[in-house]
Amino acid sequence: MPVARFRPISRHVAAVDLHGRFQVAVFLVRHEDGLLLVDTGFPGWHYAVLTAAESLPRPNQITHIVLTHAHVDHIGGAAFLARHTGAEVIASEVEKPYIEGLSLARAAARLLPRVVLTLNHWTLARRVETVRVTHTVGEDDRLCGLRVVAIPGHTPGQIGLFHEEDGVLLCADGVFNIRGELGHDPIPGITLDYAQAEASMARLAALGCRDMAPSHGPAILGDAPERLLRFLERRVA
Ligand SMILES: [Zn+2]
Repeated sequence: MPVARFRPISRHVAAVDLHGRFQVAVFLVRHEDGLLLVDTGFPGWHYAVLTAAESLPRPNQITHIVLTHAHVDHIGGAAFLARHTGAEVIASEVEKPYIEGLSLARAAARLLPRVVLTLNHWTLARRVETVRVTHTVGEDDRLCGLRVVAIPGHTPGQIGLFHEEDGVLLCADGVFNIRGELGHDPIPGITLDYAQAEASMARLAALGCRDMAPSHGPAILGDAPERLLRFLERRVA
């Protein structure tokens, strides 16, 4: 089990770093009645997430679990945490069937993602305890101070969450920040559609946030939109 480390990002948002191979973070967002959890890490990491939440000042009950997308490192602990907390499990309508067990290979148009995602499903995703999405959200819906932003491409129905009061955008796997470089995920074939993913990055850059917190790698503080636009310009050039 990974060791959880808190990384405060803003007044309402803290990352919980789960030290594994892929620098996976989940996020706890404080609201009036408790905590909203964004993603749940790999299977078996649920106790680290729970311990992190319980160490925060009250009210520290996890009232909502938002799953940004169906990858195994984001939904692994969801079934346990939903059962333990009684929280709503929330995702986009498009992503719901994949979170509930359908292989993402079904959504792949190109050969490489189809092969990689089929392998991924058979080796990893099948080991995830099935979780039921109890509530779906779409673009501009509000949850505990967060605005839902549709950012398809990495997966068909991925969502980001913008805490407007804090100026912080939880961008899930819409942007990776590995080894100081913004960009796509480092494993070929995992992102379904790079063109769509880059259109989503442009949307993220235009939302008016100050900071971005990806699920992999450190938060981008102060100049997140500018740095993301520079990455996109280099891709076009
Ligand atoms: Zn992902």
